[in-house]
Amino acid sequence: MKLHLVTALAISTLSLTAAAQDFPNKPITFVVPFAAGGPTDTVARQLAESMRKHLNNATIVIDNAAGAGGTIGANKVARATPDGHTLLVWHIGMAATPALYRKLPYKPLDDFEYLGIINDVPMTLVGKPQLPANTYRDFENYIRANQGKLNLGHAGLGSASHICGLMWQYAVKLDKSLTTVAYRGTAPAMNDLIAGTIDVMCDQTTNTTQQIEAGRIKAFAVTTAKPLSDHPLLKYYPSLQEMGLKDFDLTIWHGLYAPKGTPAPVVKKLNDALRAALQDPEFIQKQRALGAIVPSPRDRRITPEGHKAFVTSEIAKLKAVVDAAGQYAD
Ligand code: ASP
Repeated sequence: MKLHLVTALAISTLSLTAAAQDFPNKPITFVVPFAAGGPTDTVARQLAESMRKHLNNATIVIDNAAGAGGTIGANKVARATPDGHTLLVWHIGMAATPALYRKLPYKPLDDFEYLGIINDVPMTLVGKPQLPANTYRDFENYIRANQGKLNLGHAGLGSASHICGLMWQYAVKLDKSLTTVAYRGTAPAMNDLIAGTIDVMCDQTTNTTQQIEAGRIKAFAVTTAKPLSDHPLLKYYPSLQEMGLKDFDLTIWHGLYAPKGTPAPVVKKLNDALRAALQDPEFIQKQRALGAIVPSPRDRRITPEGHKAFVTSEIAKLKAVVDAAGQYAD
């Protein structure tokens, strides 16, 4: 009996090692739970370009499995074969959705291997080009004067744009909230904002910077506690705290996940490749240009344990935000 157990253990250790030595032995898929061309898609594509160099130049394909604020894509990865070839690139939604969706089809802390944080991304409060306001003060006054008439686009319940919209409306204490319009990602929402079909959005700098620069949309403020003084364009916009919204401080983040049960040596290979990408000057530069910050090699969140501990604390923090707003998905 004992001998069988020892033999079985030896075989499974051998096959784990073999799986890791062999990995990757086919294309890797990054599941992005939002529409193509949006902020999470942009991060995933830039990361794929850099990570593949550290994974024997493996092909990395992007699968945009959008819907239900990201939970459809997350569920797809939770159910995928745990061999490291199907990974999830998701953001703060991993921590926000447990509070919003009281019945999730997967368990955020049990059904994934945590591979590390990818970036931190500030957000911007933006409006359609036709809005009469040009400063944050005028913008807030305009919104107040038109309560009940304006709408806010977001990428589904639990998305970053949804959380930010909730937090901002809660902070400015409007009598009537904006009518929300849900999209499969802020890429399609951005098209409607540019066209003037929706009025307002709070979206990641990775999706708004180029549009602001091109004058296609108006920007009024950044959501970080302090202005983004290092960024050549975003430094011109005040922080919401400066504009009187006490304690307003929102930076969202992205992380990389594999299905639970992915062999430890494969998890290590993926974490090593992620950490190498986070030190790739090209990746860092591309992210910076879009206002995002790549974590330093000393950031504990780039380790599997640190990433999981961080998401655990974010789940508690975001539950308080969602409970304060009192809006749930079901
Ligand atoms: N990350 C989403 C997207 O890629 C946007 C959001 O969460 O607000 O479209």
